[in-house]
Amino acid sequence: MYIHALFDGEGQPVQLPTLTPYGGIMKRQHPTDPNLFWCSKHKEYHARDDFSPRKNRPFGISYACKKWQAANKKRKYHEDPRKELAIAKRYREKNKLVMLGRTKEWRNKNKEYCRQYNVEYRKENKDKRDELTAKWRKDNQSHVLEYSKQYFLGHKDHYRELNQAVNAALPDRIVRSNLERFMGKGNVTPEMIEMARQRIIMKRTLKQLKEWRKEHESDRDVISGE
Ligand SMILES: [Zn+2]
Repeated sequence: MYIHALFDGEGQPVQLPTLTPYGGIMKRQHPTDPNLFWCSKHKEYHARDDFSPRKNRPFGISYACKKWQAANKKRKYHEDPRKELAIAKRYREKNKLVMLGRTKEWRNKNKEYCRQYNVEYRKENKDKRDELTAKWRKDNQSHVLEYSKQYFLGHKDHYRELNQAVNAALPDRIVRSNLERFMGKGNVTPEMIEMARQRIIMKRTLKQLKEWRKEHESDRDVISGE
């Protein structure tokens, strides 16, 4: 016999418990509250969110709640820490790629949160990070030198342009460091810097003039040679 509906004394329909294929009452999901699920360890109902997701299990959740799972893990760890650590390690190694993929996926979904978190984290840990970087550089000096060298070689043109631009502008610090080579540190006055700057500009102009003349003289030679 299949019961379609039951009515209480006042004629209101009574929600029937879900039945298993064998006719028993299915305990997993609460008979009247679909958000409650049976925890087979605590022998009581908890909210769906209290269970971790298990893709291939009924209702997509674990048989016992998160709280029990956590306590169980702790208990197992206390019983045999080495065994549990080894299991965790094996799991990590076996699922490295999957875990990385999940992390990446999660970060992609929560980009704005991650960005904000990183900004805050860097701000809070700036001193510590600077300290660590400095220490690492000190411990890896030869690597740092080699890296800088390779970087410089790889960006030679860029550095040349940068240098030319700085030299062309003749800022105080460049002129000063030039003068200090002859005068010694602390003996260079602003007037000396200005004079030196004028001298450099004059020298450059003369050089350009010479080059210009050389170019035009060689033009004349070619013409007269014909
Ligand atoms: Zn539970």
